[in-house]
Amino acid sequence: MNEYDTNRIFDIVSTIGYEKTNVKKEADCFVLNTCHIREKATEKVYHEIGRVKKDFRNCKKPLVIVSGCVAQAESEEMIKRESYIDMVIGPQSYHKISDLILDYYRKKKKIVHTEFDVVGKFDELKTLPNKQNKISSYITIQEGCDKFCHFCVVPYTRGPEYSRSFEEIINEAYQLVNTGTKEITLLGQNVNAYNYFGNNKNYKLSSIIKELNKIDDLKRIRFTTSHPKDMTDDLIECYKSCKKLMPSLHLPIQSGSDEILKLMNRKHNKKHYVSIIRKIKCIQEDFKFSSDFIVGYPGETDQNFDETIKLINEIGFINSYSFIFSPRPGTPASEKNIGNEKDNLIKLKKLQNILENIQLANNKNYLGKSCEVLVENKLENQEKYIGRTKCMTPVIFESDNCKPGELVEVKIISYNQKNLFGSDKNEKEKAA
Ligand code: SF4
Repeated sequence: MNEYDTNRIFDIVSTIGYEKTNVKKEADCFVLNTCHIREKATEKVYHEIGRVKKDFRNCKKPLVIVSGCVAQAESEEMIKRESYIDMVIGPQSYHKISDLILDYYRKKKKIVHTEFDVVGKFDELKTLPNKQNKISSYITIQEGCDKFCHFCVVPYTRGPEYSRSFEEIINEAYQLVNTGTKEITLLGQNVNAYNYFGNNKNYKLSSIIKELNKIDDLKRIRFTTSHPKDMTDDLIECYKSCKKLMPSLHLPIQSGSDEILKLMNRKHNKKHYVSIIRKIKCIQEDFKFSSDFIVGYPGETDQNFDETIKLINEIGFINSYSFIFSPRPGTPASEKNIGNEKDNLIKLKKLQNILENIQLANNKNYLGKSCEVLVENKLENQEKYIGRTKCMTPVIFESDNCKPGELVEVKIISYNQKNLFGSDKNEKEKAA
C-alpha cells in the first residue's frame, strides 16, 4: 500500500511542479513515506534523515517530509526529536501535501498534519488520474482495520475500516488498463472486508473482481491482504467464475495454535482457516497459499510452536513472511513479557527452513515444464526478461522478441528458492 500511496503522493505534488529525480543531491524535497509494521521502523526513519543531512551538509537544505504510518504514530514527537524534519503528514491526509508545501514556504513554519480524513483523501484522489502506468499496478480499495489484533498498530495508524466507492475503483481500473496495465492487485489492510453501499446496492470484494474480470485488456487480478474471517463464500466462488483471478492467495494465520490465536485476538481459529483452504482447493487443486507467521508471541509454548510447524507442513505454504514477535508501542501485546530471545531465534530458523524447503520443492516441480508468465520488464543490457507465474514466482527467461505486457509460455530449465529460470524460444516454435 505504501507503494500505491507513494505513487499517488507523486501524482499530487506533480500538480505544483515537482518531478522525480534519481540524483539525490538534486532533490529540493524528500518525502519519506514510512511503514510502521517492521521492527525499529521509527529508528530507521531517523537514520535515513541522518543520511540526507550528511549529503546536504554545506548545501541548501531540502524540504524534508515524513509521511505514512510512522508519521501518524509519532506525530509532533518527530519534529521535536529531529529539527531537520519540516513536515509530518499522516497516511490519511497526504492528499493535502501540495497545499501544505505551499503553506510551509509562505509561513516558514513546521507542519504536523495527522487527521483521519480518509473520505477527503479519496475524494481528492479521484480527481487525479492514477499514472502508475505499469504492467502490474495496484489499486487501494479499502483502508484501515476494525479487528484490533493485539500485536498490530494498523487500527491506530490507518484508522477504522473504510471502503472506497465501487464506481471510483472501476474508473481507476479502466484508467490503468488504458495506459498499459495488464495486472491489477486490489489492496487493503483488510481487503476482503470491502463493503460499500451505493445506488441501493451492496458491493463486496467479489463485486469488484467480477467487474474487473470483464475488462478485455486486463489479464490478471489479485487482491491482498485478506483476513480469514472475511473469506466469504461469494469471494471463494470467484475462483470458479472469474478466470482472470489468479490461483494464489496470501492469507495470514500468524500461528497454528488456537490458544495463541486467541491471545492475539485474531478472531478466527485453525479449524476455520483450514476450512477455507479446503473450499478453495476443491475449486482448484493446485491452488497455492502463502501466509504470515509470528514466532515467540508472548505466552507461546513449545507445543504451540509445534502446532504452527504442523500446519505449515499440512498446507505447504509458499512465499510466506515470518518474524519473531516484537512489541509495537501502544498495542496490548507490547505490555506482555517477551520470551527468551535465543530460543525464539532458534524457532524462527527452524520455521524458515521448513518454509524454504517447501518453496524449493514447489519450484522444482516446474522443472522441464512450461508455465504461463506475464512479462513485466526486459533486463538491462541482456536478451532476458522478467515476469511472474500465476502464483507470483518471479521467472527470468531468455527470449528473442517478447514484449512487456505479453503472456508467454516459458519452459523452466533451472530454479532456486526464489526464482525460476527458462526460455520461451522453443515454446514459440511449438506454438507456430
Ligand atoms: S487484521 Fe491485520 S491489519 Fe487488522 S489488526 Fe489484525 S494484523 Fe493488523
